[in-house]
Amino acid sequence: MFKKVLIANRGEIACRIIRACRELDIKTVAIHSEIDKESMHVKLADQAICVGPASALESYLNIPSIIAAAEISGADAIHPGYGFLSENTYFAEVCQTCGIKFIGPSKESIEQMGDKISAIALMKKAGIPTVSGSNGPVNADDSNIFDIAKKIGYPIIIKATAGGGGKGMRVVVSKETLQNAIITAQTEAKASFGNPSVYMEKYIEEPHHVEFQILGDRYGKIAYLPERDCSIQRRHQKLVEESPSPLINEALRKKMGKAAKNAAAAVKYVTVGTVEFLVDKKGNFYFMEMNTRIQVEHPVTEVVTGLDLVKEQLKLAAGEKLSIVSEKVKILGHAIECRINAEDPDKDFIPSPGTIGRLFLPGGPGIRLDTHVYSGYMISSFYDNLIAKIIAFGCDRDEAIKKMQRALREVEIEGIKNTSSLHSRVMSNENFCKGSVCTNFLSKYIYGK
Ligand code: ADP
Repeated sequence: MFKKVLIANRGEIACRIIRACRELDIKTVAIHSEIDKESMHVKLADQAICVGPASALESYLNIPSIIAAAEISGADAIHPGYGFLSENTYFAEVCQTCGIKFIGPSKESIEQMGDKISAIALMKKAGIPTVSGSNGPVNADDSNIFDIAKKIGYPIIIKATAGGGGKGMRVVVSKETLQNAIITAQTEAKASFGNPSVYMEKYIEEPHHVEFQILGDRYGKIAYLPERDCSIQRRHQKLVEESPSPLINEALRKKMGKAAKNAAAAVKYVTVGTVEFLVDKKGNFYFMEMNTRIQVEHPVTEVVTGLDLVKEQLKLAAGEKLSIVSEKVKILGHAIECRINAEDPDKDFIPSPGTIGRLFLPGGPGIRLDTHVYSGYMISSFYDNLIAKIIAFGCDRDEAIKKMQRALREVEIEGIKNTSSLHSRVMSNENFCKGSVCTNFLSKYIYGK
């Protein structure tokens, strides 16, 4: 096992990783930007090193500084968390060259799944259902785009090849707006990823976003865990996640789990990752993408299975054999996670940075809280605005909803706008309570547009 792990991240996930390391007797090194010196992850780690100024490009994405911090502190591994450098093949390669273990899959696996067009082609080859699409990049002035779109059938969605965080996506309902939509998607993709490439695929209407956690060891063994339903989203980004999915029965779980396992096997996947699918009303499912890292929503799987995914990830990265067998994993109840973001749910989710005044976060039976904030903490506009994850666990879905409703009533966060009031509306919405969730749930049932 590793002796010392450097965490190349910040916020709640850095705290989560430090906790797992501590329980495994691994020493931890936090890195931080100048403005993060008072952050919780800095306080929790055994050692902390400043890697640059506030801008993420100069700190949490600054590869030379991070590698230097690992070398100075004598860390034998780096955990990238999610976001930042977690899916950066160059970083994984540099770690390898410097003899520092990158806690994640091989750079080849990241590469194969990082480009969405080639990932879809690979999945097709592996016999995994995919959405029909252009099978390659498109441009507004290509002579055949109207024919391709017609063949796919409207509505279609334009997506960024290098996509992430719901950026560079446009839904197109008819040919009149196709060219403009391609141009705006390309502009957004270029600004977000430095790569303007976009492609088209069939837009599945009112689908569920269902994903499978997978784990793999160096010896070729792969397991999948019960699914997460992440259908409640804003701007194609997740806000509420739950496990199990209200849509999935045991037969479909097995079928999709097997497909997720095959997807992971196709790229010889090691450590933890997630295979994402869209599921339509008839129960047809389609591969969407694979995230080659730990995900924000991993706690719902942890509480519903009793496993610790970050510890499993560390063990698998260190070369231990996978001991989990999918068929033996029990679903112990029902878990729901609400992401509390520093943003205004009444003003189109505009970010709401600032200093937190009075703060009370919930607890009590069945509530897990993953957070890094405290009273007096300054939420900076430089980084992601996730401030806390509330995870409720109940013996069934109704009990988990009740616990979450109760927990949300306890939340008091002064000084900034946040998403907790929206979550209360979702948790008391009759369609949510019935399990009728879909990716356009918020616009359909909450905002009514
Ligand atoms: P990103 O990598 O940017 O997160 P994803 O491919 O994971 O993008 O998609 C994010 C969300 O966008 C999905 O959960 C879903 O709501 C929506 N989406 C993506 N592709 C489609 C599609 N073909 N049909 C309908 N919705 C889609």
